[in-house]
Amino acid sequence: MKPFAYVKAANEQQALAALGRERGKVMPLAGGMDLVSLLKDRIATPDRLVNVKGLDATIAATPDGGLRIGAAVRLVDLQAHGAVTSQYGALMQAAAEVGTPQIRNLGTVGGNLMQRPRCWYFRNEDFPCLKKGGARCYSVDGENQFHAILGGGPCHIVHPSSLAVPLVAFGAKLRIAGPRGEKEVLAEEFFELPERNLFGETSLRPDELLTHVILPAAKAIKSATYEVRFRSSHDWPIAFASVALQLQGTTVSDARVVLGAVAPIPWRSPEAEAVLKGQTLNEATAAKAADAALAAATPMTQNAYKVQVAKTAVKRALLHAAGVTA
Ligand SMILES: Cc1cc2nc3c(=O)[nH]c(=O)nc-3n(C[C@H](O)[C@H](O)[C@H](O)COP(=O)(O)OP(=O)(O)OC[C@H]3O[C@@H](n4cnc5c(N)ncnc54)[C@H](O)[C@@H]3O)c2cc1C
Ligand code: SF4
Repeated sequence: MKPFAYVKAANEQQALAALGRERGKVMPLAGGMDLVSLLKDRIATPDRLVNVKGLDATIAATPDGGLRIGAAVRLVDLQAHGAVTSQYGALMQAAAEVGTPQIRNLGTVGGNLMQRPRCWYFRNEDFPCLKKGGARCYSVDGENQFHAILGGGPCHIVHPSSLAVPLVAFGAKLRIAGPRGEKEVLAEEFFELPERNLFGETSLRPDELLTHVILPAAKAIKSATYEVRFRSSHDWPIAFASVALQLQGTTVSDARVVLGAVAPIPWRSPEAEAVLKGQTLNEATAAKAADAALAAATPMTQNAYKVQVAKTAVKRALLHAAGVTA
């Protein structure tokens, strides 16, 4: 591990003052569940770490009936929070499935959303791939069984955060603070495809911090996350889906369908949403929406199996959200 300086910031102002403008030189450290392994593997080689556990660690109701979640809230506290469990089921389910109890005990909301991709070539210092400034993507002719089936190229990572997917389904915003002031950005627009941003995964600049997640009111929303994993212990999902539905009886008046672990960003599917709107939600319409969500999939050499897995996740998330038994 390369030696680095360490700053313990007591609050947002101190943390922002300690950051810098050059990518990778100064990095925020939250629970360390991702960053420490990147440091050990020399994928991240910052000169300075800024401990950001002094950022807001509370979950509070907003005046319009939504929730404001601090970036330093631990996953274990998110999954157990009363308003999250009662109104944001898809988010609670995603948080509860992350890693292991130890990871959820230390991992924070901000760190989860900003964790780096799991591509094994990216994580191995012997592979100078495109994302690290090299000349090629090793996954194209290599081991790509867990890579993207939608939205890939020139890099084919899948987005690693389980929380990001339900946040897009709920239409959440993220508060960003930096030297130019603060702003709120739709989660859907915060995550960026490799064709737009090859070296990072979000629009966050090195001198900015993600400080809060802001969820709109969801009392009238039925939601669910359905994940498929190889093992139920501590793997990232192979594919998953989060859905948020407005129902009039069993008829869908509005729907947001977002897929995880299939694309470099949380992948919203307007095609699936269009299939659902105005229809009775049952097994047949859920299957039709799942087909629509994956119609544009372009699997790589070893990951065609993910198409059916993702369809199953979409279908089951829809049925679970609506309380329909398949
Ligand atoms: C075995 C294992 C299984 C896992 N399974 C899953 C899973 O299924 N789903 C899933 O989503 N995750 C999974 N994870 C990842 C884990 O959830 C994340 O590593 C963890 O949430 C990161 O949070 P942290 O607070 O420890 O972040 P850190 O490791 O401290 O930071 C992660 C990154 O975020 C940046 N950062 C941290 N806070 C901020 C901030 N406020 N603003 C801007 N940048 C910031 C850091 O600079 C760093 O680049 C797994 C991890 C392991 C080890
Ligand atoms: S998928 Fe992206 S991170 Fe992985 S080898 Fe290709 S360029 Fe690198």
